[in-house]
Amino acid sequence: MTEIKNLNEFEALLSDHTGLIVIDFYATWCGPCKIMSPIFEKLSQMDELESVKFIKIDRDENLELIDKYSFTIPSIPRFFIIKSNKNGIEIFEDLGGTQSKTSLFEKISKYLDSGSESQKTEISKENQIQTNSKHKPKVAIIGSGPAGLTAALYTSRANLDVTVFSGLQPGGQLTTTTDIENFPGFWDTHNNKGKSGTDLVETIRQQAEHFGAKVEFSEINQIQYHKIDSKNQFVLTDSGKQKHEFEAVIIASGASARYLGIPDESKFIGQGYHSCATCDGSFYKNQIVAIVGGGDSAMEEANFLTNFASKVYLLHRNNTFRASKVMLERVKKNPKIEIIANVAVKDLVGEKTLDHIILENTIDGANLDLEKLKLDEIDQNRYKLKLDGLFVAIGHDPNTKFVGNLLDTDSAGYLIPQSRLPKEERTSKYDSATKIPGLFVAGDVEDQLYRQAITAAAGGCRAAMETEKWLADQE
Ligand SMILES: Cc1cc2nc3c(=O)[nH]c(=O)nc-3n(C[C@H](O)[C@H](O)[C@H](O)COP(=O)(O)OP(=O)(O)OC[C@H]3O[C@@H](n4cnc5c(N)ncnc54)[C@H](O)[C@@H]3O)c2cc1C
Repeated sequence: MTEIKNLNEFEALLSDHTGLIVIDFYATWCGPCKIMSPIFEKLSQMDELESVKFIKIDRDENLELIDKYSFTIPSIPRFFIIKSNKNGIEIFEDLGGTQSKTSLFEKISKYLDSGSESQKTEISKENQIQTNSKHKPKVAIIGSGPAGLTAALYTSRANLDVTVFSGLQPGGQLTTTTDIENFPGFWDTHNNKGKSGTDLVETIRQQAEHFGAKVEFSEINQIQYHKIDSKNQFVLTDSGKQKHEFEAVIIASGASARYLGIPDESKFIGQGYHSCATCDGSFYKNQIVAIVGGGDSAMEEANFLTNFASKVYLLHRNNTFRASKVMLERVKKNPKIEIIANVAVKDLVGEKTLDHIILENTIDGANLDLEKLKLDEIDQNRYKLKLDGLFVAIGHDPNTKFVGNLLDTDSAGYLIPQSRLPKEERTSKYDSATKIPGLFVAGDVEDQLYRQAITAAAGGCRAAMETEKWLADQE
C-alpha cells in the first residue's frame, strides 16, 4: 500500500498504473479511519487483489487533488474504486463510512476482469466462523465500544456464535479522544504516558475477532422479541433493512455527550473542548478552564477540575441552579471557582486549539464585574473570555432509539438492568438482565453514574458471563 502525499504523486500513479486503484481518504484525527486502516492494509496484501493498487490519501493535506478530480468527501473514511483513463479518472464506486473486509473485497472484485466468483467464495470462507456439530447459540452485541467489545471477547471465548453490530461509531466514544491515562494496564511504560483510546478499542476488537466474534459495520434500527415454541427469538433489523435472528442479545450502545451545538465546535473537540472532566481534566495543570452547566454533574466536575486548574469558571445560562444546595454551596466556597451566571457560550475561537470563547448575556443588565472575571467586553452584550479548556456538563443521551417500547428507561433515558431494581421487582437472577428473557445490557447505555471505559468493559464482561449462563439454563 502506498501513501500518496500530493497531486504530483497521484498523477504519476495515474500515468503508471492502468489497473484498478482503490483510495482510502482518511484524516489523522479520525477514529473510524484508524479502525479501517488495518482492514485496508490486509486487503492490499491479498494475492487475489495483486493487480489492484491500494493508496491512502490524507484528506486534510490534499484539498487541491480532491478538488481537481472532483472527489466528493462529505465524511471520512471514504473509499473510491477508480481507474485512470485518457480524460483523467473514472470512478466506479464511492463508499462512505466503515466497511467490512468482505464487502470491500466484493465491491473491488466486481471490477476485476475475471475470477471474482471464486475469490468471493474464498473470502467468505475465510470470514466464516468454523462451526462444529454442537449447536452454538447465536448472540448479538449491539455496540462496539469497550462494553460491546469486551462482551464479544467473553462470549466468543465461551464458544458462542457472536456477531457485533458496530453502529456508526466503530470503537465507540474512546475513538474521539487522544490519550487515555486511567485504563489499568494500558500505559506506555517507556514514555510514562497514556495511550490512544482508539488503540485500546482496536486491540479489544482484534482480541475478540481472534476468538471468533464477527464484527458487522452496520447499525441496528429495530429489535423485536418473539417467543416461538417456548424458544426465544430476537430479530434485529439493520439500517439496510436486513433482518438477523439471535437467541440472546446484549445492548451496549453507549451514550452520547450533549455538546452546545454552536458553530465550529466539532473542530475543537479534544483540542480544548471536552465533555468529560474525569477523563481530560488532568491535561490542564495550572491552566484556566471553564465548565458549562447548572446541575450536580457540573458542580462535581467544577470541583474536580480545581485539583488541576489554577482557575475554573462555572458558566450557566441563568442564576437558578438545578444542582442540590449542598453541591452548589461547595462550589461557592471553593476559592478557585468563579461563577458567571446568566451567560451563554456563543462561539469557540482559536487556530488549532481553543484560545478563547465568546459569551453573551442571556438577560439584559446582567451587570458582570468585568475586571474581577477577566472578561473583555466586545459590545454591550458580548464578552471575550480567555481559556485553555472548556468542559460541558449538560447531560448525555443514551443511544436507545432502536429499542422502541421493548424496554423501560429511567427518567434520563437510561436502560434499567435488574441490578437497579428493588428485590421484589426483579424478574431474573442475573444483574445485567432486563425484563425480556435473553436481553442483557452493559456500559454507558445503562450507567449514568460512572461512564468510564473500565466500568463499561466490566459491564460488558458481566453481561457476557450472564448471557452464557442464561443460555445454558435454557438447554
Ligand atoms: C471525549 C471523551 C473522552 C473520554 N476519555 C475517557 C478516558 O480517558 N477514560 C475513560 O475511562 N473513559 C473516557 N471516556 C468515557 C468512555 O469513552 C465511555 O465511558 C465508554 O466508551 C463507554 O463505553 P460503551 O461501550 O458503553 O459505549 P460507547 O463507547 O459509547 O460505544 C457505544 C457503541 O454503540 C454503537 N451504537 C450506538 N447505537 C447503535 C445502533 N443503533 N446499532 C449498533 N451500534 C450502535 C456505537 O457505534 C458505539 O460503537 C471518554 C469519553 C469521551 C466522549
